[in-house]
Amino acid sequence: MAQLQPVRGTHDILPDEYARFRHVVDTARHAAMLFGYREMATPIIEFTDVFARSMGETSDVVSKEMYSFTDKGGEELTLRPEYTAGICRAFISNGLQQHVPFKAFGWGPMFRFERPQKGRQRQFHQIDVEVIGAAEPEADVEVISVAAEILRRLGILDKCVLELNTLGDPESRVGYRKALVDYFSAHVDKLSEDSRRRLEKNPLRILDSKDEGDKKLVANAPLIEEFLTPTARDFFNAVKDGLGNAGVEFTVSPRLVRGLDYYTHTAFEFTTTMLGAQGTVLAGGRYDGLIEQLGGPPTPGIGWAGGIERLVLLSNPLPVPPRVIAVVPIGAEAEAEALKIATELRRNDIPVELAYKGNAGKRFKRADKLGCFAAVVIGGDEMAKNVVVLRDLASGAQTEVPRDMLVGQLKRLQA
Ligand code: ATP
Ligand code: MG
Repeated sequence: MAQLQPVRGTHDILPDEYARFRHVVDTARHAAMLFGYREMATPIIEFTDVFARSMGETSDVVSKEMYSFTDKGGEELTLRPEYTAGICRAFISNGLQQHVPFKAFGWGPMFRFERPQKGRQRQFHQIDVEVIGAAEPEADVEVISVAAEILRRLGILDKCVLELNTLGDPESRVGYRKALVDYFSAHVDKLSEDSRRRLEKNPLRILDSKDEGDKKLVANAPLIEEFLTPTARDFFNAVKDGLGNAGVEFTVSPRLVRGLDYYTHTAFEFTTTMLGAQGTVLAGGRYDGLIEQLGGPPTPGIGWAGGIERLVLLSNPLPVPPRVIAVVPIGAEAEAEALKIATELRRNDIPVELAYKGNAGKRFKRADKLGCFAAVVIGGDEMAKNVVVLRDLASGAQTEVPRDMLVGQLKRLQA
């Protein structure tokens, strides 16, 4: 029989990997909570329009990567390729304008039709942080600080560089856009087909092109720096000063742009050289026009998303798994008692392995294989005396413990 494979670009997360995956999510959630962000979730499917209108039709994601389909009721739907658009849609749908700044943490699967490779999948997962309704540069500093704190707690901050740039305000962009059109028009014959299309609709997007020919041209393209209005410049300076005060290191990358239409002012990426071509671990920026573009009231916002698979690849294998106790009955007459003991221990938060069947020898072998550090052994003699035998599975040392002192004793061992 042919082997049954998962869909190309998707993968199973088996228990060992899942432990690392969950560690990333738990660490992120906890750090976000320390900054006052609360967890939420939006549906995995949204109307296609939510993404088309917010991310922009010329973005790679909308033009090539979306999993879109017509459902049985004739609705045009898309499996979400990112979180920001959905959270902004939720902000509008639920009338959360009274609750700004609205600070959200989310995580979950995202879907993009791209060429699968290490660190790049068609179903991947993101952690995500958004602040909606805050126009102050302090908010930019905060969301970036949350990201840095998560990376620090995962032990990978020093494997990453924070690259920072500004995309200016809409006014700065008018002059910059014109300069880019002039520059790229003079080299139009060397531009990729995609970028020729971008030249009309969104020349800024060319700066984010992955085409080698485009990249060479981009290297000499004009920089936004000289087109910044005083307001945009002040904003950027405030973000840089704030990051300095927060102790977050960064480098200014004047050519950093983000692939989506909705960004203004701050754009940033935490990148690494340790994941080959998939060097961006976590990325985001300010999106002051997005909510309005989606049909909501003018509301500023800023946020980022980090790829969980890439974070898992970068972080070290998890330390200690939970300390499990095996409960081993000696003989059939002790099986019912073993189940009672296991039940009591689990009620007291002690993880227990109780095999479904087998003699004591087989059960000890299984306990070893699972890495149990101790076994509670119970047979007819022990039952008569109302005790159990506690065996240290590393040394083999055994002690008799009165039944009513077992939980206390195991709690001490666990600690
Ligand atoms: P890239 O330039 O690598 O395609 P992107 O700019 O499309 O990334 P974003 O939309 O900013 O990525 O998503 C934020 C993060 O999500 C990325 O930095 C990355 O860690 C992760 N990510 C994006 N696409 C994928 C994917 N196909 N597979 C795995 N992780 C991904
Ligand atoms: Mg991409």
